Amino acid sequence: MNDVLPAQVGRWQEMERVAREVFALYGYREVRTPAVEQYALFARGVGELTDIVNKEMYVFEDKGEELLALRPEGTAGTVRAFIEHGAHVEGLQKWFYLGPMFRRERPQKGRYRQFHQIGCEAFGVAEPAIDAEQIAMLDDYLARMGVRAQLRLNSVGDPQCRPPYLEDLRRYLAARKGELCPDCNSRIERNPLRVLDCKVESCQPVLREAPRLLDRLCDGCRAHFDAVKGALEDLGVAYELEPRLVRGLDYYVRTAFEFTSDALGAQSAVAGGGRYDGLVEMLGGPAVPGVGYALGQERLALILESLGRKAPEPAPAVFLISADAAGAREALRRAAELRRAGVACDLDPRGGKLKAQFKQAERVHARYALVLGGDEVASGQAKLKDMETREETPVSLDALAGRLAAATR
Ligand code: AMP
Repeated sequence: MNDVLPAQVGRWQEMERVAREVFALYGYREVRTPAVEQYALFARGVGELTDIVNKEMYVFEDKGEELLALRPEGTAGTVRAFIEHGAHVEGLQKWFYLGPMFRRERPQKGRYRQFHQIGCEAFGVAEPAIDAEQIAMLDDYLARMGVRAQLRLNSVGDPQCRPPYLEDLRRYLAARKGELCPDCNSRIERNPLRVLDCKVESCQPVLREAPRLLDRLCDGCRAHFDAVKGALEDLGVAYELEPRLVRGLDYYVRTAFEFTSDALGAQSAVAGGGRYDGLVEMLGGPAVPGVGYALGQERLALILESLGRKAPEPAPAVFLISADAAGAREALRRAAELRRAGVACDLDPRGGKLKAQFKQAERVHARYALVLGGDEVASGQAKLKDMETREETPVSLDALAGRLAAATR
């Protein structure tokens, strides 16, 4: 779990501000749900046999009442809220969320136990156009953040074509289990799709030759997938087909995708998502289709860092420096006046040597500094010093707020 200190928080605020801007362009509205839900929601929604639920969830008993869990992802809670508030009666719903998620994973670069996701869900549209539009929205977002990531796309079929494929896959994997790692072996029965996702080098030859679900899609899934690809092409979003792409959550059907970046090393996915048509119904709601994704903020931050992008930091327009006691009083008064006028300003209430105060002005990246002492108070005039060019311009104290508001607008 990480602390985000003030020097880095600008990056986080930027990620969130741009997300809100892009989501608004596409008509997605924010939903806020609790970080804690009933354990059963995730067991049913995400899947009891997934690593996320089985090994990684923080589960606790609420004083002997019920079993609760810290949310490991955002979709299950969002679907619960959608059902609980009967949101389906209002037709198509496009929602987004931001917030912390929790998984007890082995910590490493890009993998943490509390991490933050920016995610979105669209409820009520079975048509492939929304899958493509949502992927394009994420692509737009990454482009606005100055990030290039590769889109990897797959279809994971549906309850019609997946089960017979899984039987074939199980049979194939079982026949070659001697060539597979222990993790893969333990998954052949439980979750054979996840075997395809194994990164262990010695497993790769077996996995490369495995039967592909993409070759076995039923007509409905095939048509859906072709339409998603066509719409992405219309929208100018480049993708790579990745027939072995599966997701760690059980609820996906048809479209599954990830955006990856070389900057991330082994944990290369910055975002991932897909379609989950049966989920709302499975969690006790009406038969409403859904599609969504989540982006990992820590991973996006790592990419931005690797690009050498500086985190934006707020800086005061002016730093007021006091030369004596009269100046200190005037500084406090003028600072209040400036802030009321919407001008960010700062001062060092400890006073002290001018040099030390100028140093502090530099440290907070103030654009201007202004020295106030008995003379300035008496004349109502002071010198505004540009901290970059070192140029000094005379200014009347009463005109300061107007002048700085214009200069920093
Ligand atoms: P998932 O919910 O597993 O589909 O993950 C979606 C995105 O969340 C991933 O692409 C990552 O960017 C991010 N993510 C998932 N797990 C972690 C973690 N343990 N630490 C940091 N980011 C994560």
